[in-house]
Amino acid sequence: MLPYGRQSITEDDVEAVVAALRSDWLTTGPQVDGFEADLAEWAGGVGCAAVSNGTAALHVAYAAAGVGPGDEVVVPPMTFVATASSAVALGAKIVFADVEEETFTLDPAAVAAATTSRTRVVSAVDYAGHPADYDALRSAMGGSDALLLADAAHSIGATYKDRPVGTLADLTTFSFFPTKNLTTAEGGAVAATDPRLLERARRFRNIGLVRDRNEQRWPDEGGWHQEVHEFGLNYRLPDVLCALGRSQLRRLDGFLARRAELVARYDEALADLPGVLTPGRRSWARPAWHLYPVRILDGRRREVYDRMREAGIGVQVNYIPVHWHPAFADLGYRRGSCPVAESFYAQELSLPLYPTLSDADQERVVDALAAALRGRTARPAAA
Ligand SMILES: *Cc1c(COP(=O)(O)O)cnc(C)c1O
Repeated sequence: MLPYGRQSITEDDVEAVVAALRSDWLTTGPQVDGFEADLAEWAGGVGCAAVSNGTAALHVAYAAAGVGPGDEVVVPPMTFVATASSAVALGAKIVFADVEEETFTLDPAAVAAATTSRTRVVSAVDYAGHPADYDALRSAMGGSDALLLADAAHSIGATYKDRPVGTLADLTTFSFFPTKNLTTAEGGAVAATDPRLLERARRFRNIGLVRDRNEQRWPDEGGWHQEVHEFGLNYRLPDVLCALGRSQLRRLDGFLARRAELVARYDEALADLPGVLTPGRRSWARPAWHLYPVRILDGRRREVYDRMREAGIGVQVNYIPVHWHPAFADLGYRRGSCPVAESFYAQELSLPLYPTLSDADQERVVDALAAALRGRTARPAAA
């Protein structure tokens, strides 16, 4: 089965990991600092904290923003459930705001309607690697003192009006799961434009421990002393994985270029195919294409999905609207509340997209899709 996404690992990556394994530091060592510094370069100079996965990055970011019981967090439903569930874990109430029709990122008009005095964070998602409209979102938040968060699990390396992802929101989160634009196996990071927010994020990631004597309540306890002022968790990313991340970041430019090339080839190959719509984009965006989400028309998404899978093409659906998950349904969230996201979901199909996808395999995907739309199932390639 051709996957919808997969990692690219080279001998350089293997050597970087082995070198970290042979070093004195398996975790809390120099590769962590190095990876964070390298990430900050991609994030327009904004400071970054490496964490153990993208869900942890969201949990850390919400904790740094002070999210707690009684607070509201505005989230688009067209995302992975973690964008919302990590805030629920802190006691927040999620307010779903619909996405816009072109890029299926958070709709500024929906944010204006959803923001109240209780809103602590507005979370945009750079769906498929296309940045949300951050300037418009900021305006839509009006005079609210809520923070703007970018879930950039799909979009590291993208730009919005020539400004890099990482600089666009108060807090930005990344994921380095194998299907994402670069990988550390499991991993993630938080970028924060305000150094005080970054410090809070680092503390939460490290159990809340305060080691700086100048900040301790009881600094004369002894040389061993460390103390907790606010509770945190252990969300550290080890040196072994940070070394992999640094090695991967050296190739991120190439990864993004190949993804963009494959997207241009899909756009062209599918332009005249009836029954399918290719993804939209805004003139101000340079996306970091993580997904290639097409829309299958005429209520045929399920059939096309099944035929593609049968043909050995690992298509995916990203995502079921978050408020449809039983956990949210049980809290009283209702279908129909975000019609744009919900009708997009009914049509969405993600075609395989990853840097090592060959031109020939991509042509197989296009042929299988054309066959499926004609009501036929392409024969799987010989194993
Ligand atoms: C992958 C992803 C996450 C979670 O990242 P993990 O590393 O898998 O925990 C969060 N949000 C979005 C939009 C994602 O795609």
